[in-house]
Amino acid sequence: MRRPLIAGNWKMHKTVRETLDYIRRFRDLVSGVTDREIMIAPPFTALYAAGEALAGSSIRLGAQNAHWAEAGAFTGEISPVMLKECGVTYVIIGHSERRHIFGETDEMICKRLSGVMGAGLRPILCIGETLEEREAGKTFEVLERQVKAALQGFAAEDLRELVVAYEPVWAIGTGKTATPEQAQEAQAYVRRLLADFGGKEFAEGIRILYGGSVKPENISALMAQPDVDGALVGGASLDPETFARIVKYA
Ligand code: 13P
Repeated sequence: MRRPLIAGNWKMHKTVRETLDYIRRFRDLVSGVTDREIMIAPPFTALYAAGEALAGSSIRLGAQNAHWAEAGAFTGEISPVMLKECGVTYVIIGHSERRHIFGETDEMICKRLSGVMGAGLRPILCIGETLEEREAGKTFEVLERQVKAALQGFAAEDLRELVVAYEPVWAIGTGKTATPEQAQEAQAYVRRLLADFGGKEFAEGIRILYGGSVKPENISALMAQPDVDGALVGGASLDPETFARIVKYA
């Protein structure tokens, strides 16, 4: 049985002060929730303070990216050991904004994944097709390329903590959520890819999240799909009351 993971990706939002204010309110709002895992991923600058504020809480801390090396001449990058020190558990890797705005390649994402795994952190690998790719009937082809390239060189037994997030690019920040059927179709396919990679038992143990315009109004229908094991929420995770409603979906 896969434990649902409801994760908030704050992207480039919130100062340290705003993060601490959020956590103070959010902790109370979700204090009774035990049957699902909750994560928030503030910007790097707020991670240390967030880690301290979350001490003793079951809310997990996430980071939005990580470099593959422990240290080095990589201006502007953050290493997995630095994140670990802040209390980070999950690291988002290969988000479509990293791929499309900042030119991250499948090869880079594979290396970042290995850095995250090497530090004992849990990667959330983001994949997903653009509107153009979907309309050209290339969704499965794109997902296959992204999954295979990211997992290349890994042994399945080392990837038991992997989380995959299916985020169709056309649904991110657009208000245009994939239908539950579209999410299920893509995510069942991703699970087949994972089975090809590491066997059926491995694939059955991996959580696959859906991301793209998730809101309190559509979370339940998405979560009712057999291959949707959680959500990666952007805009709707920025307000503690709204995100708590998503976390507490029925
Ligand atoms: P929105 O929920 O704002 O569409 O963003 C989704 C996302 O990119 C989460 O990583």
